[in-house]
Amino acid sequence: MPKLGLTDWFAAGQAIVNGDLYRYGQGARHADRFERRFADMLGVRHALAVNSGTSALVAALSAAGVGPGDEVLVPAYTWMATAAAPVLVGAAPVLVDIDESLTIDPKAIERQITPYTRAIIPVHMINLPCDMDAIMAIARRRNLLVIEDACQAAGVTYKGKHCGAIGDMGAFSFNSFKNMNVGEGGAVATNDSILFARARNYHDLGAPIRGHEDTFNQAAFVGANMRITELHGAILNRQLSKLGPMMARLRVRRRIVADVLTQSGFKLAPHHDEASAASLVVLFDTAEQAADFARNPGVTRLLDSSKHVYTNWEAILARRTAHPKMNPWAWAHREITYEPDACLRTLDILGRACRVTLAQRFPTPVSRVMAHRLARSVRSI
Ligand SMILES: *Cc1c(COP(=O)(O)O)cnc(C)c1O
Repeated sequence: MPKLGLTDWFAAGQAIVNGDLYRYGQGARHADRFERRFADMLGVRHALAVNSGTSALVAALSAAGVGPGDEVLVPAYTWMATAAAPVLVGAAPVLVDIDESLTIDPKAIERQITPYTRAIIPVHMINLPCDMDAIMAIARRRNLLVIEDACQAAGVTYKGKHCGAIGDMGAFSFNSFKNMNVGEGGAVATNDSILFARARNYHDLGAPIRGHEDTFNQAAFVGANMRITELHGAILNRQLSKLGPMMARLRVRRRIVADVLTQSGFKLAPHHDEASAASLVVLFDTAEQAADFARNPGVTRLLDSSKHVYTNWEAILARRTAHPKMNPWAWAHREITYEPDACLRTLDILGRACRVTLAQRFPTPVSRVMAHRLARSVRSI
């Protein structure tokens, strides 16, 4: 979301001046510093920077020991990576409906739990926090792990806590479309030192030769390479400094636009922490009304953000993996399939839901003018 600017350019220059962009190289400090600052902001003990949000989810699931035979609950409205990550560690994703808050429905979670369910991945979509109180209560009662997908919600808070810092682990993305932007990047957050050590081992197969295994007395296992560079670390430090002010601007504009639209009779999607809301979704009675409203500039009907809807996750629906034998669905304890009509409630809600841009780069009066123009664009609601 944020554009890169001059200060990011200077930050990149600082990393280059060192003559080596390797994060474990001599004089390297940017990636380490980012991890410390990001963990402090979130209020968690550990943060691990990785090379993407998908890597963050895979590293988190691997750290938690999720694998073959396990089922992982994911919402039917999210970027496909949330459903792909369990597959990449050998587990099977199980689709769960969202509710009108556009996030995973806790009641629908209960209906999808089987004896094989190991974890829930609630996704804080488009800066909208999930109903974490309800989700954590279910997880505790049913002994399930919670790995928050906060890829679209860095800096978003839920009842005073940061999204991604509430469950057992949190995953973040820093690709070009997210709240912090370094082209590609991600992070894992957790309070659990063992989970952190395992995530760090998974993200860097060379972790043992860096002395990492000594710290938490964990036997090394075979990992991958998801390491971030100093260049990314340096720019992430800049992006992190800009995150707080950006979220503050979004919250102010959200309040202004919400006031104008509700006074004009619009129905806003329920929000799990209205007081700190940083994005806004309008709900209509019919899909046609929503499609009409989405003709306005700055408005998107969520059903048309196609790749985020399960019906468009072709490889998942077909249960197709790179190698036919490395197929988690063959290892599941029961037949798990994905019919296009599996989550009709999700499709119905997304068809009636429109996201309204909050224009955080413009002065606040622009948001007010835009909101009034939007309100006038609909004759009767
Ligand atoms: C972006 C995103 C991811 C994956 O992040 P990448 O950095 O693109 O790998 C995962 N989940 C959600 C909800 C996302 O928006």
